[in-house]
Amino acid sequence: MSTSASSPSKSPPLLIENLVKTYGPIRALDGISLRCEQGQFVALLGPNGAGKSTLFQLLSGLFTPDSGRIEVMGNDMTHNAVPALASLGIVFQQPTLDLELSVTANLMFHAGLHGMPRSLAKERIKRELDRLGLADRANSKCGQLSGGNRRRVELARALMHDPALLLMDEATVGLDPGSRAELMSLLHSMRKERPIAVLWSTHLCEEVENADRIIVLHKGHILRDTTPSELLNSTGQTTIEDAFLSLTGKIEDAA
Ligand code: ATP
Repeated sequence: MSTSASSPSKSPPLLIENLVKTYGPIRALDGISLRCEQGQFVALLGPNGAGKSTLFQLLSGLFTPDSGRIEVMGNDMTHNAVPALASLGIVFQQPTLDLELSVTANLMFHAGLHGMPRSLAKERIKRELDRLGLADRANSKCGQLSGGNRRRVELARALMHDPALLLMDEATVGLDPGSRAELMSLLHSMRKERPIAVLWSTHLCEEVENADRIIVLHKGHILRDTTPSELLNSTGQTTIEDAFLSLTGKIEDAA
């Protein structure tokens, strides 16, 4: 995998067209289309079972769709997966660090997967750890870090190859409210420094209020793809939570 992907000039970081994924009779994604523009923070808001994880599995190349298309920076995920994957960074819902290894060793391993020369990797690791306030933990074992700091290491790992698109799959699950707020705030300040698109999946309405766009996903369908204010206007509600409730009929595990 190269450290920079080919990027046809007018291609958005992410383009999805008519994506379908079924599990037997279950249509987990039933023909969804969306796009993320450079620099946008797009929140994918959906209750349990909406299809968020299925979408992220397809986006990260773990599974292939039944039909439809995913392009990352103009690179088709099915037919041109290497440059597509090289253009994205992912923080998965489940923790994926090796807790026995140091922060630096975890990041070095990832750099190796991206074919990054060691000297560049060291530079990038320092850059990301500085930016994320983890410089003094570079040699700590990941197992010694708090849940919030482990997530920051995963974020550093997702960013060190300078992706055009950052995928955050319910990344605040398991974090206490303070760590959750810190991670959100880090993400929003990071966007001022880099031209990166973020797709943030969550079932928590409080996490989407500052998004550029909110995509409401329910039972494999996109119910809305709009701005937070337009979501309120179009549903006649005064809070995102009420708007979400009025569209989906329920909010599961939203506390
Ligand atoms: P959660 O927030 O609970 O993780 P989600 O929005 O990520 O939910 P998915 O996990 O993508 O939703 O599930 C979408 C639908 O597909 C659900 O009906 C789910 O039961 C079903 N599903 C997901 N994975 C499988 C699988 N491996 N086999 C069968 N059905 C599945």
